[in-house]
Amino acid sequence: MSKILIVEDEESIAELEKDYLELSGFEVEIENRGDVGLERALKEPFDLFILDLMLPGTDGFEICKRIRKEKDTPILMVSAKKDDIDKIHGLGMGADDYITKPFSPSELVARVKAHLSRYERLIGSNVHHNDVIEIRGLKIDKTARRVFVNGEERNFTTKEFDLLTFLASNPNRVFTKEELFSNIWDMESIGDIATVTVHIKKIREKIEMDTSKPQYIETIWGVGYRFKV
Ligand code: CA
Repeated sequence: MSKILIVEDEESIAELEKDYLELSGFEVEIENRGDVGLERALKEPFDLFILDLMLPGTDGFEICKRIRKEKDTPILMVSAKKDDIDKIHGLGMGADDYITKPFSPSELVARVKAHLSRYERLIGSNVHHNDVIEIRGLKIDKTARRVFVNGEERNFTTKEFDLLTFLASNPNRVFTKEELFSNIWDMESIGDIATVTVHIKKIREKIEMDTSKPQYIETIWGVGYRFKV
């Protein structure tokens, strides 16, 4: 359930907003002071903020700016004055929308729903953009640089991760140790092709069920290694 924070000092307005949003299935909390609202907004995981402009403690402009520095959560500004709306535009504070008082509660609910679903799509699409390789229980998240074996995370050093990812990104191709070394280690690196052998051994210990019968990284005797798909 989406959680909304209303920062509004006029209690009757805050309660009206809360009632309508709760009827639409949202969880709603109210703060009447700007400074307290700001503190909670920064600390707690809300999905959307509804901010009045004139507030005791800290005003809505300041709250909006401070939230935007840390979070992408949708912000809906509420104001009674046309001048304030111009100010919201002019300042480029990062508010997602504004609504003028008096407004109909159904309009507020519609705006809240629109911003929440847009934000959820945004978050969802980011997750999908993670570049992931998945082969028989082995999952390599190239974006997050994390490796999972049957759902369990394994810790990899930078070079182990780079080597595994390089092989898995070029499946069924045989690479010599020299090729792997020059692809993963930069030229100035101290080390030789024995480094590759050591790293392959460590990777196998982390991803293979039985290192004597590797199912992912195959040794091609006298040549090098191949990632089997
Ligand atoms: Ca006010």
